[in-house]
Amino acid sequence: MGSTGGKGLSLARRLYTSRALGLVLGLVCVSVAMYPLDPPAWVWGLMLFNGLVWPHLGYQWARRARVPYHAEYRNLLVDAFMGGFWVAAMHFNPLPSATTISMMAMNNVAIGGLRFLAAGLAVQILGVGVGLVVFAPALVMQTSPAQLYACLPLLMLYPLALGWICFRQAYTLGRQKRELLALSRTDSLTGLLNHGAWKDQLDIAFQRCRLQKQGAAIALIDIDHFKAINDTYGHVAGDIVLRQLSKMLKQNLRAADVAGRYGGDEFCVILPDLPLFNAAQAMESLRERFSTLGYEQSPALTVSLSIGLAAYDPAHSDATRWLNDADQALYEAKANGRNRVICNSDRPHHELLDSV
Ligand code: GH3
Ligand code: MG
Repeated sequence: MGSTGGKGLSLARRLYTSRALGLVLGLVCVSVAMYPLDPPAWVWGLMLFNGLVWPHLGYQWARRARVPYHAEYRNLLVDAFMGGFWVAAMHFNPLPSATTISMMAMNNVAIGGLRFLAAGLAVQILGVGVGLVVFAPALVMQTSPAQLYACLPLLMLYPLALGWICFRQAYTLGRQKRELLALSRTDSLTGLLNHGAWKDQLDIAFQRCRLQKQGAAIALIDIDHFKAINDTYGHVAGDIVLRQLSKMLKQNLRAADVAGRYGGDEFCVILPDLPLFNAAQAMESLRERFSTLGYEQSPALTVSLSIGLAAYDPAHSDATRWLNDADQALYEAKANGRNRVICNSDRPHHELLDSV
């Protein structure tokens, strides 16, 4: 039975609090307005039921429903119908009637927008119609001071409660939005930035270099013969290698450096404000350290890295050209025997131009 996680269950929970409060305060408001009209016992009974029992019954109904959202929609329509019914029963006593109608309208529009507002108003009119049939049509033109005071708790407390519920909802949504945004930028296996998020950072770094006339280097790091590692030691071991590399990147880079997983067994790093020579030194020590790592589950396993580096060049028309330089350097590291760091500037200049 889908009673615990069904669609709209959290809506039902939120509405339970606001309905329980709204209807008990509404009972005070309506009963003081009804008192001078001396209604029969069944009307008192219905009033008490509506104010004290119905909110709890409605909640249980929604909780047990297959789609709590639909049950809650029906509950709101029951509320609206009863609201209209009591307005007719009070003979349209101005303040309690206006209070009932406006509190319900506020509730409906807050929960379900214009659709709920319109549906609520339509059913409210139906409730008024039925009320007019049950009670002889009549008008009470004046609200007594006692009736006015009886409306005040509802008027003062209910908007506060509903505002609080809406605020909590907006707050939770804001937090979830931030969490989702962080997730959408993170590579799930390594916890590094994913491809798209790293590329965004690369664009930012490129613009910063261009505007502030600063230097920076980028590195593309690729694990050597990773497919063979997967084939020999299994994909779980492969994943451990990927995590080890990301851990080493996190531990060994400066706070300002931006590491990401470019995809598969390829990683990428932005090293701001670092001359190419120093960037190469940093990558060289990373390569060396990584090649000496031991793996508990696979003692025979050693893993080497090929790394291509490129410095920011004011001649680059966009960040893609910069990345392309690093890619070319990586290609060369692979072609020249792997397990090495190659800087783009190590290559002849005409080759650079050809590669664009
Ligand atoms: P090279 O030295 O030329 O880089 O060779 P390589 O075998 O490392 O390169 P190749 O691109 O042929 O293979 C990369 C492999 O990485 C293939 C793919 O199955 C594996 N791979 C990609 N993503 C993951 C992952 O998330 N986990 C694991 N275990 N393997 C992955
Ligand atoms: Mg590889």
